[in-house]
Amino acid sequence: MRLTALLLASVMAMTPGMAAAAPLDATAAKTQIDTVVDTSWGTLEALYKDLHTHPEVGFQEVRTAGILAVKLRKLGFTVTEHVGQTGIVAVYKNGAGPVVMVRTELDALPMEEKTGLAYASRAQQTVDGKLTFVDHACGHDAHMTWWIGTAQALLAMKDQWHGTLIFVGQPAEETVEGAKAMLVDGLFTRFPKPDYAFAAHVGAAPVGEISVKQGVATSASDSIAITFHGTGAHGSMPDKSVDPIVMGARFVEDVQTVISRQKDPQKFGVITVGAFNAGTVANIIPDHADLQLSLRSFDPDVRKLLNEGVATTAKAVADMSHAPAPDVVHTHGTASVVNDEALAAATAGVLQAALGAARVKLEPATKPGWTASEDYSEYVAAGVTKSVFFSVGGTSPDMIARYKAEGKPLPVNHSPYFAPAPEASIRAGVEVLTLAVLSVARP
Ligand SMILES: [Zn+2]
Ligand SMILES: [Zn+2]
Repeated sequence: MRLTALLLASVMAMTPGMAAAAPLDATAAKTQIDTVVDTSWGTLEALYKDLHTHPEVGFQEVRTAGILAVKLRKLGFTVTEHVGQTGIVAVYKNGAGPVVMVRTELDALPMEEKTGLAYASRAQQTVDGKLTFVDHACGHDAHMTWWIGTAQALLAMKDQWHGTLIFVGQPAEETVEGAKAMLVDGLFTRFPKPDYAFAAHVGAAPVGEISVKQGVATSASDSIAITFHGTGAHGSMPDKSVDPIVMGARFVEDVQTVISRQKDPQKFGVITVGAFNAGTVANIIPDHADLQLSLRSFDPDVRKLLNEGVATTAKAVADMSHAPAPDVVHTHGTASVVNDEALAAATAGVLQAALGAARVKLEPATKPGWTASEDYSEYVAAGVTKSVFFSVGGTSPDMIARYKAEGKPLPVNHSPYFAPAPEASIRAGVEVLTLAVLSVARP
């Protein structure tokens, strides 16, 4: 009997991430997590407002990373800074057990906040040589705050889990460059490679609502820069020009037929021209036009079709104007985030037990994912497949009622009016991520 127990214990110690020895009491764990957040709410709220007021764009998150590094060192983590330029990696060892990664993004967006909040950002940074306003319009400030809250909760409850925590603060998510930068800089070779990984994103759904998607969770994203080369001339002499604005305008229209006439209408795909810059004044036909595109898809075949369709259309419109071939440059891209189906179902079960079934939806793999993209997919592609990327609702009931009364759609991520309710969103994020870690790192 004793020998059997010893043997079993040694087998379990040698098998990181094996099924839980004792089932997690989700309700009791939630109460303990909430108590930790109650105690530290003052400092978490101050951190959130500070990060919100001082946002930093990708690879410029120096102040942000510094603040988080100090907080994690105080909690007892071993923190390494400047991983993938401005990223941070914090490691905490708590006995034998699985290595569990919890990831937050650090970066904000180059845009002007218009929420009118008392702590709204007026910060500016230089992006591509231009001074621009910066705004945490994607909610990464909430993610950083719930990431710190999760670290606090897990350390306060360290008798309830065994293993190693890897807290990753990733730069430059918005340009889908940061995850790659951290991996290239040795995230999974200089530090223990995770057996499990979790992250969460705040969105416009009602605050506190949790969505756990099985299978494909987010879209693949591709950014493309196109330059049409024309011949400049006087505005009154179009026959002496090759007009790049006409080429660009024709391209913007025609490229949508890749979506409407070439793509299977049952499959998701988006081509957005987000920037079109050409010319200076009314009476000069410029000699070039610069366009920037964002492509989104779930299916690898659709992704290929959109990329090829953009290049073919751009070349065709240049040919029609007898212009040289345009420059078509794929600047960034990332694949879909794919959640492990069994782990998604298991964590959804724990979250439903703790938070109530009404708050937690398990979305099957057969349903389409979210149309937004995330370079969190790079960690999954690098082999950490036992992973779940959660979605946490952030819009308050008041805001929902106000927008409904005005007949306007709710502000979503990247809107200058995006304003998730901080306390309820952050509390939900701490609950989700802490319960997810506890569920896979049972003693
Ligand atoms: Zn974003
Ligand atoms: Zn985001």
